[in-house]
Amino acid sequence: DAAAMLVGAVKRYGFGQSAVVALDDVTIGFPAGKFTAVMGPSGSGKSTMMHCAAGLDQLTSGRAFVGNTDLSALDDRELTRLRRERIGFVFQAFNLVATLTAEENICLPLTLSGRRPNAAVLDEVVSLLRLGDRMHHRPTELSGGQQQRVAVARALVAQPQVVFADEPTGNLDTRSGQEILGFLRSAVDRHHQSIVMVTHDPNAAAWADHVVFVVDGRVHDVIDHPSADSVI
Ligand code: ADP
Ligand code: ADP
Repeated sequence: DAAAMLVGAVKRYGFGQSAVVALDDVTIGFPAGKFTAVMGPSGSGKSTMMHCAAGLDQLTSGRAFVGNTDLSALDDRELTRLRRERIGFVFQAFNLVATLTAEENICLPLTLSGRRPNAAVLDEVVSLLRLGDRMHHRPTELSGGQQQRVAVARALVAQPQVVFADEPTGNLDTRSGQEILGFLRSAVDRHHQSIVMVTHDPNAAAWADHVVFVVDGRVHDVIDHPSADSVI
């Protein structure tokens, strides 16, 4: 049972002699209700894999599924709607809207699709992420760790089918990073959310249920129940 899946996925950038094959026939499922880490050398295709699985970028050939939905069968409008309603995103650079408060940022994906947050979910996320007294602040009035906690809250309050996180702890100190990872872990354990996280950090990957290693655009290995030592 996959929250998201790539089947025979090929992604080529450019044409002819200058073409780069970023994904080279990748078939991989990201299991529902699990925390998956994606690791691999710089340039191995991790971001491309994530962007294609999340419908942010199109495959050259092969298929990407979110649940049972084949993304290649959707037009742009349907794809935008699927991303808003069924996917959560966390980026290394936080990507908060500067003119909106923390609360408005957190609720933005719901607002954009005409929905309102479940009050109980919002309360729990805000309290676990210790954002209760920051909800009316704008991003410039928040620390880096607080900004990333807002971004994580935004990705999770709509309870999407799958959350994609690209180096979510890359810009944080160790303590803020551990806090985010602990929260992601609890969202999986307590609420069966499905999380796919790209990371360079073995200590971050150790929070995951399994680690997918990407090398040269291919899935090289999958390790279950990783420890920081087993994924270096
Ligand atoms: P990673 O996330 O593992 O660092 P990427 O998915 O960013 O790897 O990149 C995989 C390969 O695709 C690299 O060789 C990179 O240079 C190339 N690449 C990524 N994005 C583009 C792009 N927009 N145009 C051309 N080449 C790209
Ligand atoms: P259901 O929605 O079927 O009642 P859930 O386990 O999804 O079961 O939610 C139960 C409660 O857990 C919710 O009412 C809310 O308080 C909380 N909750 C649900 N999803 C999340 C989440 N992603 N993060 C934090 N709390 C959540």
